[in-house]
Amino acid sequence: MWIPKPQLATLLFALTAASFGILALTLLGIARGRLRLALYAVLALGVATLLAAPLLFDADMRPRVERGLAVSLPLVAAVFLVLLARGGRGTRAFLFAASSVLALAALAELAARRQVFVAAPLVSPLGAGFVLFTALLLPRVAEQERRLFTRATTDPLTGLLNRAAFEDRAQAELARAGRTGRSLALAMLDLDRFKSFNDRYGHPAGDAALTAVARAIERTVRGIDAAGRYGGEEFIVLFVEADADAALPALERIRAAVGALGPPRVARPITVSAGVAVHQGLFEKTSFKSLVARADAALYRAKKAGRDRVAVEEMAPPATPGDVLYR
Ligand code: GH3
Ligand code: MG
Ligand code: MG
Repeated sequence: MWIPKPQLATLLFALTAASFGILALTLLGIARGRLRLALYAVLALGVATLLAAPLLFDADMRPRVERGLAVSLPLVAAVFLVLLARGGRGTRAFLFAASSVLALAALAELAARRQVFVAAPLVSPLGAGFVLFTALLLPRVAEQERRLFTRATTDPLTGLLNRAAFEDRAQAELARAGRTGRSLALAMLDLDRFKSFNDRYGHPAGDAALTAVARAIERTVRGIDAAGRYGGEEFIVLFVEADADAALPALERIRAAVGALGPPRVARPITVSAGVAVHQGLFEKTSFKSLVARADAALYRAKKAGRDRVAVEEMAPPATPGDVLYR
């Protein structure tokens, strides 16, 4: 393959590789967040500019520019090293890729300058090698990111959303309800007399029961609803675009599904109590915290009334848009 200007080829290669890296990182969600993406973009452009610098000047200026480069490259290397030591996985992967590009481009440049026209044949296989290498490296980085994400958002015992992830989801749904005016229902569920279950059958059996309850909840709710583990043997469910009339039968189905569990997976039949609060998207403003408190108060009433039942919060929903409630 014949390339008339090896430097230009180098520059094009650097730019392509930098864009490829940025694109891949963005697609894989590693360069998440505007700030990080901007940082990567600046780094990538910096690398490309450094490589292009000698081309931007006349031949008689080039030695000076190259001396400047000789000074600044160690500086760049130092910044890379600091970032490498302090950065997260994504930053490291990016720096690794950027350093490879830099090294490859330097090799090609050297070859071109010595009039050893290995530059063109070298750049292509090395470029292809780099792309292949990145293609092999990035899925691993993405896999690690995915594992970290799963670990950060799910409850390790039951596999349901953990409390933080559930809250994120609920906040998003609350914001959506505020826009669409649709209602949503939030339910708190607590297993009945679970302490005595543990005392009688042991904690491993208790854990198995919790997992079975989680599966029962998951099986029962619609795909768009969200189920999480709030704490020990307490679960939390968000019914999207649902009022009390929709949430109550859904909760009764959960109660029936939990009640149907038994040996051999669950040592003995268990029951669950639930309290539900309904947010009227059109008429009220509420926070996740206060919605949880309202559902919890309803749960308390369900427990007091004898357990193994569902209670709806006592507060009647506002009758007309004029009765706007701010809680
Ligand atoms: P109530 O009907 O009033 O809810 O009675 P309870 O015994 O269930 O009371 P409470 O909800 O306060 O009990 C919580 C019990 O749940 C205490 C603990 O033994 C059990 N528990 C909490 N987290 C776990 C867990 O991760 N694994 C197991 N096996 N048990 C747990
Ligand atoms: Mg409890
Ligand atoms: Mg309990």
